[in-house]
Amino acid sequence: MANRKFIVGNWKMNGLRSALGDIGGIAKIAEQNSGVDVAICPPATLIASAAAEFPDVAIGAQDCHQASSGAHTGCLSSDMIKEAGASLSILGHSERRADQHETDADVKAKAEAVRSAGLGAIICVGETEEERDAGSAVSVVCGQLSGSFPEGADGDWLTIAYEPVWAIGTGRVPEASDVEEMHAAIRSKLGELMADGSENVRILYGGSMNGGNAAELLAVPNVDGGLVGGASLSAEKFGPIIEAA
Ligand code: PEP
Repeated sequence: MANRKFIVGNWKMNGLRSALGDIGGIAKIAEQNSGVDVAICPPATLIASAAAEFPDVAIGAQDCHQASSGAHTGCLSSDMIKEAGASLSILGHSERRADQHETDADVKAKAEAVRSAGLGAIICVGETEEERDAGSAVSVVCGQLSGSFPEGADGDWLTIAYEPVWAIGTGRVPEASDVEEMHAAIRSKLGELMADGSENVRILYGGSMNGGNAAELLAVPNVDGGLVGGASLSAEKFGPIIEAA
């Protein structure tokens, strides 16, 4: 797994049915780049139609509740997103950690729920600008990773995404040396958290990745792919990132 790059598009709260054509365009580029694993995580309303229309590209969710059913208005369980056609879910994105107050313990429980449905999980971790300026980025991120880390983790289904909060949607990207330092720290923490197989867990970089900077970021040691927001919304912008991988 770790030797195949993984490029994931996070559409966030963007995309009506009219945007399905963009997923079709991305699916075509993914087919032409068969050495790269590609997934698109559209809003939940598009999962079923995207999965039915484009079976050759992985479709993911952007969140999943930890409970299997019950009184959780507005939430979706792992079985629900699986039935809709998702094969994975992003979990613990910094926007959800901030807006929905998701804790590390929530993210761990969500990852275990996703796993029990047979889906993949992409757990997001990342520091704020204040934390980086204070010199605590590595300890914050490693703390999030430990707290969010699910039981039974395995590179077959678990991916980590390092997303510095200050780089998301801002056009700002860390120095390659800072990305290298963080990904090495995450790799080492995975080694502590897992009895074996930590080298098979892919670590994605996310935060203002685009067609112009993808090749440099993806060449950094321990960067096994990218989690891409704004530049994943069209085949025209996402294609060059897939090709760079
Ligand atoms: C994201 O939110 O996961 C992300 C990486 O966004 P962007 O690429 O727009 O910075």
